[in-house]
Amino acid sequence: MLKLNFHPAGRHFLQIPGPSPVPDRILRAMSYPTIDHRGPEFGALGLQVLEGIKKIFKTEQPVIIYPASGTGAWEAALSNTLSPGDTVLMYETGHFATLWKKMAEALGLKPEFLGLPGIEGWRRGVQADLIEERLRADKGHVIKAVCVVHNETSTGVTSNIAAVRKAIDAAGHPALLLVDTISGLASADYQHDAWGVDVTVSGSQKGLMLPPGISFNAVSKKALEASKSAKLPRAFWDWTDIIEMNKTGYWPYTPNTNLLYGLVEALDMILGEGLDNVFARHKRLAAACREAVKAWGLEVQCADPEVYSPVLTGVMTPEGFDADAIRKTIYENYDMSLGTGLGKLKGRMFRIGHLGEANDLTLMATLAGCEMGLKLAGVPLAGSGVAAAMQYLTTHKARQQ
Ligand SMILES: *Cc1c(COP(=O)(O)O)cnc(C)c1O
Repeated sequence: MLKLNFHPAGRHFLQIPGPSPVPDRILRAMSYPTIDHRGPEFGALGLQVLEGIKKIFKTEQPVIIYPASGTGAWEAALSNTLSPGDTVLMYETGHFATLWKKMAEALGLKPEFLGLPGIEGWRRGVQADLIEERLRADKGHVIKAVCVVHNETSTGVTSNIAAVRKAIDAAGHPALLLVDTISGLASADYQHDAWGVDVTVSGSQKGLMLPPGISFNAVSKKALEASKSAKLPRAFWDWTDIIEMNKTGYWPYTPNTNLLYGLVEALDMILGEGLDNVFARHKRLAAACREAVKAWGLEVQCADPEVYSPVLTGVMTPEGFDADAIRKTIYENYDMSLGTGLGKLKGRMFRIGHLGEANDLTLMATLAGCEMGLKLAGVPLAGSGVAAAMQYLTTHKARQQ
């Protein structure tokens, strides 16, 4: 066993925006014995998850499941559709958008990074008009793809993907639309087909409530067509063989059997609750969390109420208070993990995750831990965020269907 310095009583509060807490039902499902990945039962399991996951992406097209973290599925999206030297228009919403751009450079693509200047771009979602303007100027159609992040996990800001599709269409531009919804899927509404997305990238350890280890590419017909002439080197990530073998529920290599057991259970939980109920639950908890932040007299990182993330809330700390020191105080005193500030926001903010396996009481416990920790760290608070969140939750009833 892993030796820890201490063994606190009670459960650890994993309130980072992914990995999110794994429900007991999923953990139990994952403890079934591993089976032969070429045997008859496996084919039935494969077909079940490949069909079920389409409902989450809201697509009729193939969804590819990789035994990899989300970063792998990022690479798959780029390498299956693009060629060396291709220009791609990427939009800077935060740290994850920045990492995806770095990857594009490493793969030999030429990313153009669009966005609002400085920290402002990290407080607002994608400005679709900037994309439209840039594409209109690209008369020769040099830009081969537009890449955006749906839920920017580093900031707690979402982006309007339908508006990006509209911008591309308004410019009459043939570029592919590639979207990262690694942390948005199954927490915020997402419509791969209706929004005309060509490749959607996602992962297991956020809204799907699974451990890290599997990730996804949902693809469009146009993306499949593009993959036929795309020249970036790819082998493991190549869609062709996977899609062919997936037709009978198998993979060209050994898939992540026990995580697929977990995925069956996650699909059952999410579809059983109903996607709209899942989204409404996330929105309500996020709103209550923001009420708490406001009552503390602190600022929410997202500056545009239209695009508040239902997945996490970024909390800015006052001048002179290092957000990571506050996180450390909370971890050491209350056994709760909060998300760190990433990239440009290091030390300036912490992130509260309220996704997946979350309800009123998990949020209230989380906010109590934050409030006590902020007090211990000496942060002057305007009032009780816990009281404000309770007030919100008791006056805004949960949606029931
Ligand atoms: C978590 C996350 C990633 C990275 O996924 P890994 O599984 O850590 O590789 C990328 N983009 C976003 C938006 C994320 O939330």
